Amino acid sequence: MSTEDQRQVNYQSSSKFTGIQLEKPTTYAAGLPAVKVALQHALKEMGVTKSTQGLFKMNQKNGFDCPGCAWPDPEERSKLGEYCENGVKALAEEATNKHVDAAFFSKHSIQDIAQWSDYRIGKSGRITQPMVLKPNQKFYEPISWEEAFNLIAQELHQLAHPDEAVFYTSGRSSNEAAFLYGLFSRAFGTNNMPDCSNMCHESSGVALSETLGIGKGSVKLEDFDEAEVVMVIGQNPGTNHPRMLSALEKCKANGGKIISINPLVEPGLVRFKNPQEINGIIGHGQSLTDYYLQVKINQDVSLLQAICKKLKILQDQRGQVFDLEFINQYTHGYEDLTQHLDQLDINELVELCGVEEALIDDVVDLLAQNNKIIICWAMGLTQHKNGVENIKACVNLLLLKGSLGKPGAGTCPVRGHSNVQGDRTVGIMHYVSPHLNKAIKQVFNFEAPTQTGVDVVHSIQAMHAGKAKVFIALGGNFVSAASDTIFTAEALQKCNLTVQISTKLNRSHTIAGKTALILPTLGRSEMDLRYGKPRHFTVENSMGKVHRSKGILPPASKQLKSEPEIIGGIAHTYFGKTHPVAWDTLSKDYDLLREKMSETLKGFDHINEKSKGSGFYLPNNVRDLDFSMLPHQKAQFSICKTPNHQLKKDEFLLMTIRSHDQFNTTIYGLDDRYRGIYNERRVVLMNESDMKDYELNSLDIIDLSSHYNNKERKVSRFLVVPYNIPKGNLAAYFPETNPLIPIDQFADKSHTPISKSVIVKIKKAAQ
Ligand code: SF4
Repeated sequence: MSTEDQRQVNYQSSSKFTGIQLEKPTTYAAGLPAVKVALQHALKEMGVTKSTQGLFKMNQKNGFDCPGCAWPDPEERSKLGEYCENGVKALAEEATNKHVDAAFFSKHSIQDIAQWSDYRIGKSGRITQPMVLKPNQKFYEPISWEEAFNLIAQELHQLAHPDEAVFYTSGRSSNEAAFLYGLFSRAFGTNNMPDCSNMCHESSGVALSETLGIGKGSVKLEDFDEAEVVMVIGQNPGTNHPRMLSALEKCKANGGKIISINPLVEPGLVRFKNPQEINGIIGHGQSLTDYYLQVKINQDVSLLQAICKKLKILQDQRGQVFDLEFINQYTHGYEDLTQHLDQLDINELVELCGVEEALIDDVVDLLAQNNKIIICWAMGLTQHKNGVENIKACVNLLLLKGSLGKPGAGTCPVRGHSNVQGDRTVGIMHYVSPHLNKAIKQVFNFEAPTQTGVDVVHSIQAMHAGKAKVFIALGGNFVSAASDTIFTAEALQKCNLTVQISTKLNRSHTIAGKTALILPTLGRSEMDLRYGKPRHFTVENSMGKVHRSKGILPPASKQLKSEPEIIGGIAHTYFGKTHPVAWDTLSKDYDLLREKMSETLKGFDHINEKSKGSGFYLPNNVRDLDFSMLPHQKAQFSICKTPNHQLKKDEFLLMTIRSHDQFNTTIYGLDDRYRGIYNERRVVLMNESDMKDYELNSLDIIDLSSHYNNKERKVSRFLVVPYNIPKGNLAAYFPETNPLIPIDQFADKSHTPISKSVIVKIKKAAQ
């Protein structure tokens, strides 16, 4: 890159401290403080009228889907409001009255903006018109939609091969937009479709597909009412999927037990004060976790194997612990698994996982007596080198207990972004689906490419190596979401063109290719009008239910286009009128687009009708106990290895985490209320005995570094916060610590970055 082209100077959040205050972690989640904080955010960003209008319709059957996580809505929706604190924050962020327009961009160069923290960048507001950053320029300037589409088409035409383009998707996009985008990528000739699930639940998808035949979970919301035991592993629902706490509360009220497995004791798993109930406002609320197993980072397999081994001993002694009828009829590999369990040394497993054996025995007793078991998990399991095996170890336990295909039991990977699951269902994937390609040929009359494309990690490597030259992002904040921030930023800057289809300003707009476009789009909550009539689109929740979403708020600007219209505009300009796909028509007529989706996608027949009301469930073979698509036509037990990090004396395992004021890469505020950390994000949570060993006091400043393949990566100036975390483990927020995660360190098979188990060293910095 030439020196004139060095427009971006800062790849990561500002390293300035913001004035930390520490308190004791709370002992519960939600309650009155959650209501208060939620309202403060709503009123500050949206004002009274918009807040009332928006919140009244969010997650209601005739309203719009929350732009936050993918937790499902109950059949009966509360009139008081069917949302949580983080849902309100997500809405406030999207429907903010603050705007980023041409005047803003003429005042702030991208170098200026790059100096700001992620929080400040995000708080700038909604982008109101298309903008372009021309080669060697420092300021974005306005561009018309037509010019923007022409510019993209021109760059795409100049590529030597379709694989020189990358089409990234974030989990916010609707089914309709994602379907059209995938269709365009395939018509263009590439499967280079990385998506945000590559960075989160890809390990779940791989593990579940290999063991159960479908890369999604099997439970429905009502299963929580009937579950006898719910295991929550590597997940913090109080912050990341708060309405899940209502489901856990109901499970407890019906006599169910909850086992939580996590390196940090998260208040949201301890007690829930449901803000919609009197007991939640003025009473003690509901205690949730019955057994809290504070496992060491990345030792979930050791713990799950210890549990399975102890269950096997009970099974051998007294029988009736495993569901042998289920195992015989539906599974393959039982003998191999039990032989493997027999060979494992229980003392070693207990030592590795760091959980007191008596507590493991209590959990084993509980599991031995019950068969309706749900296992929920999130990034705490998926973002490790052995992420896929972590999930397989969960599946082993469920298979041993026959806890699949019956009410109150099953797998529950909890998705973090509102339509991340739907995007994959409608065709956003980098691998080849022969079935989908065949359907595309039949419905759209073109041959889709048969070469596997690149996922997130490999798309970054391809851009860095100059093998990919155009990057288009349908939503998201790619540079802050991906691992190895500096490498990722360099990769994007090497592109000839980067295109960000966005609602709000984010750091990725400051990490630009030689030419960069920002194409502003409508948010979830905004009215999407065509000939004066509001249109709806569809999304799929974490449990495989597809339903409608219709925005009701006035758009932030008249110049915004919907995502399908932007994709259609690019495709129509690139292909012209003679292409077999009527891009222009399809991008505007969503009913017609959905009819085409019905013809192309499995389970989407009659979607226009079926998506009404609370929607419809997509087919799920695990619910039907049909494993005929697997190699042995049966669900598969797995042999999982216990991870061995072989840490040196001065090394720690670091997991990156979210704060409570954060949703993925969006920073709503600087507080992490449940953990008692206020007004600061540059912190490292550390065990007090480790602090003593390193002669560190609370709020001392340290630098962190990782060393992989002879390369040092560093982040500087973080404040030490003493915390209840296992010895030898650290936790710190992302994206601030993403630069420590090497691009080439990812989970086997799924390629999910190892964000939850990075080996790091610490060093005391100048105070
Ligand atoms: S639980 Fe998730 S989907 Fe529901 S309101 Fe909260 S953030 Fe939105």
